[in-house]
Amino acid sequence: MTTPVIIASERGEVGLSAGIAVLRAGGSALDAVEAAVRAAEANEADHYVGVGGLPNLLGEVELDASIMDGATRRAGAVAAVTGFPHPISIARAVCDRLPQHVLLVGAGAERFADEVGIPRGPVLTEEARRLWREGLTAEGLALAREIQGEGEAAYRRAMSGLLAAMGTPDGPWGTVNVIALDAAGNLAAGVSTSGYPWKYPGRVGDSAVIGAGNYCDNRVGAAACTGRGELAIRAGTARSVLLGLAGGLDPARACAAALRDAAELPDEYRAPLQALCLAPDGRHGGASTRAGSTYSVQTADDDTYRIEERLRI
Ligand code: ASP
Repeated sequence: MTTPVIIASERGEVGLSAGIAVLRAGGSALDAVEAAVRAAEANEADHYVGVGGLPNLLGEVELDASIMDGATRRAGAVAAVTGFPHPISIARAVCDRLPQHVLLVGAGAERFADEVGIPRGPVLTEEARRLWREGLTAEGLALAREIQGEGEAAYRRAMSGLLAAMGTPDGPWGTVNVIALDAAGNLAAGVSTSGYPWKYPGRVGDSAVIGAGNYCDNRVGAAACTGRGELAIRAGTARSVLLGLAGGLDPARACAAALRDAAELPDEYRAPLQALCLAPDGRHGGASTRAGSTYSVQTADDDTYRIEERLRI
């Protein structure tokens, strides 16, 4: 029997006690990941995920999430979902109940969530609205108004200037990655985010894209990403971590190799990228393009989680 273990990106530690409780009771890695991510989605202090997430350019919170099962390599994902505080549970329902599909977006994802009985609820908090409004430059606000009339052409015209003026969104917040290994030796990985604040409406990041922000395969391991989603999509970073792992690298070095590959891409909007990895034998590691990045880990034998350093590339 495997010793269950669960790991999470920064800010994911709020969910580890819920996740480890599932694993200690003999529950599946998938259930543990969903429980842990739900706790992070409910945490209003994290302005990058679930309730309290920061809105898009037009002031609407659009959420992305995915979950993947290492035993079957089945996955479910949703993107640009509004009005549902727990997108991870919609992704889980896609995985379990809609096996002919992997990814649902926008109105279709919301319709499906209603059909399977997932509760709607408020997502935009006062604090998130205030942060969004304060971070929006005068040009951004004017653009947000203009875009409602003129659409994408207006955004394109001003986009580089606008994003440069806003800089990298910064704060004690983060997209959440959770990866678990259960007593039966199965892996699962989950990711949930509100994506970049002030993003173009309908923008989907790596969190909802299997292979980019999330990948899980019992034969090799599981990996997930946070940070510059466009780079992780272009480089297929989560899957690329597993290629390194399969090639004999340890989890931290496999993350570092995948990040180096992504960091080679030309990209005007430089922002940090992180990866996290759990192997089928319980080894784990992470890497980041910025200094001081960490992740949390808890085994079924531990009373609480501990914080580990990521490798800096
Ligand atoms: N990866 C997320 C996205 O691109 C954002 C983040 O983790 O900072 O939507």
